[in-house]
Amino acid sequence: MAKKIVVVGEVRDGELRNVSFEAIAAGKTVADGGEVVGVLLGENVSGLSETLIHYGADRVVVVNHKDLKSYTTDAYQQALLQVFDVENPEVVILGHTAIGKDVTPRLAMKANAGLISDAVAIEVEAGKPIFTRPIYSGKAFEKKKVNEGVVFATIRPNNIAALDIDPSRSGDVSTLTVDIKDLRTTIRDVVRKATGGVDLSEANVIVAGGRGVKSKEGFGPLKELADLLGGAVGASRGACDADYCDYGLQIGQTGKVVTPDLYFAIGISGAIQHLAGMSNSKVIVAINKDPEAPIFEVADYGIVGDLFEIVPILTQELKNS
Ligand code: FAD
Repeated sequence: MAKKIVVVGEVRDGELRNVSFEAIAAGKTVADGGEVVGVLLGENVSGLSETLIHYGADRVVVVNHKDLKSYTTDAYQQALLQVFDVENPEVVILGHTAIGKDVTPRLAMKANAGLISDAVAIEVEAGKPIFTRPIYSGKAFEKKKVNEGVVFATIRPNNIAALDIDPSRSGDVSTLTVDIKDLRTTIRDVVRKATGGVDLSEANVIVAGGRGVKSKEGFGPLKELADLLGGAVGASRGACDADYCDYGLQIGQTGKVVTPDLYFAIGISGAIQHLAGMSNSKVIVAINKDPEAPIFEVADYGIVGDLFEIVPILTQELKNS
C-alpha cells in the first residue's frame, strides 16, 4: 500500500548533507509509490527545497524559525512534532548523524512509535519496510521491522545510494509556522574547529593513520595522499590518544562510523574497536609492517612494510598516473 514518508533533510553551513539525499532514496523505496515529503528546518532554508526535489522528494515542507538556526534538541523536537501533527507520516527517516542520533529516539518516544536506528539497507516485504542494521560492532547484521504504528528510522551515511539528481523533477514547496517555546538551551554562537577538507563521515576516500604514524608531522604524507584522492584524513584512537591528531578524526566504536568506497588503514593494528567503525568500507587497503596485524584479516589489499617508505611511493605513483 502506498505510504506517506517524511524525510528530514540535514543542513550544515547552509548546505544539505549527502545523507539527506540518501534518506530520500530510502524514503522512495519505503513509499512503494506513495509520497516522500522532505522537511527542512533552519532560519532561512527555503532556498534548499528545490535541491531536495531534484533528488526525488515529491514535496517539501520548510520550517523557518530563528530558534532553528543551530541545532538544539528541544527546538528541533518541538518543530518536528508539529510537522508530524500536520503530515501524519507512516515512516520518518533521518540520517544516522549526530543530530539524527540525538533527536530521533526522542521523537519516536514522544510519538509512541517504533524506532530502528543505523540502517544500512531497506527492503519492502508485504508492504512493510524491513531495515538491515549492523550489530556486535558490525560483525553481524539483523533485519528488523516495526509491526504496527509509525516507524522512525535513521540511516547510516554512505550506504544507501542517493537517486541521480534530476533538475526536471518538480514538486510543491510549502512553509509551516511552528511555535517553539520554553527552550532549555539556546545557542549563542557556534565556534567550529577548522579541520578543512572533506567531511569524514561523508568522504568516499579515507586515509586513516594510527600509532604507527608516530607523530603529528607523520600525518603530513597521509594528508597529501588524501588530498590527491579527494578524500579525508581519519585516525585510530591510538593516534588521537598520542596527540598526533584531533579526536574529531577518530574512527571506531567510540569515534565515527564510516563507510567510504576506499579506506586506507596506515600503521593501524586493527583492534576490534577500530574495526567497528570502518570494517564495512567497500575496499580496505592496509599498510603495516607487522604481517600478523589483525587489520589484514579485514583488508582487501595488504601491503606489509614500512609506511614511511610506502606512502610516498604510492602518492608519487598516483601523481604520475
Ligand atoms: P597500535 O595498536 O599500537 O598499532 C600500531 C600499528 O602500527 C601496529 O600494528 C604496528 O605494527 C604498526 N606500525 C608501527 N610502525 C609502523 C611503520 N613504520 N610502518 C607500518 N606499520 C607500522 N580504537 C579506535 O581506533 N577507535 C575507537 O573508537 C576505539 N574505541 C575504544 C573503546 C574502548 C572501550 C576501548 C577499550 C578501546 C577503544 N579503542 C578504540 C582502542 C583500541 O583498542 C586500540 O587500542 C587502538 O585502536 C590502537 O590504535 P592503533 O592501531 O593506532 O595502535
